Amino acid sequence: MFRPIIVSAVVVVLALLTVVQTSRAEDQEPRLYTLDCGKIKVLDANIMDDTDSYAGPLELVASCYVIQHGNDYMLWDAGFNLEAIKGVKDTDMFQPKIEKTIEQAIAVIGLKPSDIKKIGISHNHFDHIGQANVFKDAELLIGAADYDMLFAPDAKPDADLHPEFLSEWADGQNVQKLTGDHDVYGDGSVVILSMPGHTPGHQALMVKLKNVGTVVLSGDLYHFKENYKHGRISDLNTSREQTLASFKRMDEILRENSAQLVIQHDPEHFARMKQPPEYLE
Ligand SMILES: [Zn+2]
Repeated sequence: MFRPIIVSAVVVVLALLTVVQTSRAEDQEPRLYTLDCGKIKVLDANIMDDTDSYAGPLELVASCYVIQHGNDYMLWDAGFNLEAIKGVKDTDMFQPKIEKTIEQAIAVIGLKPSDIKKIGISHNHFDHIGQANVFKDAELLIGAADYDMLFAPDAKPDADLHPEFLSEWADGQNVQKLTGDHDVYGDGSVVILSMPGHTPGHQALMVKLKNVGTVVLSGDLYHFKENYKHGRISDLNTSREQTLASFKRMDEILRENSAQLVIQHDPEHFARMKQPPEYLE
């Protein structure tokens, strides 16, 4: 009489454990939210091509992303700086504008700045770090070479660089300076990919989604579809050689993971992402 009861109890306990484990595993499946971080007019598209094959201006978007992993939220890129935008003129090469701040954008998904535990930065340019200081309690994940361009003791002052946009991490505290790929949560679902060339510490982000499959956020390895299609390299890039190696590596990663590339500045790529509160999973 006892044995069936014991067996039943074991079965029930095992079944309960399975339920708990399954729900935990599902809780950890990442969600990808795409934020509208503004638009940017580029006065001369040829700044995006060192062989000057374009004509006229270029209208791009700026996108940022929130990746939810369990109860943790990571922001990927931090858009334009609100103060810096105010002084923009029609004759400037880059003319950004925004309709809402990142703080306003994440409110739509029920988040406040202190909910963001990590900020991953694709690279140290003004359009990717502008509002980072709003998330001052978050850990900064940045390419070591990009951090050092801004803050190393021997860093050269440069009008195009804005260390003040990351001043909350100027003391080196709460920063991971990355020198290669980085598996953010240790389970392979969210991986920062070292893709130097646009800047020396430039990075992309791979997110493995259960239903949608693998998505790779480009950073500025490519600024828009045509540059990807033709392998064109921006005048802004710090190394042609590193960029070509990163192009090759990106193609391999996309192929190996059957992944979709999302070019962060490309208006069409942005338009096909879900808008908050909707997300990809
Ligand atoms: Zn950019």
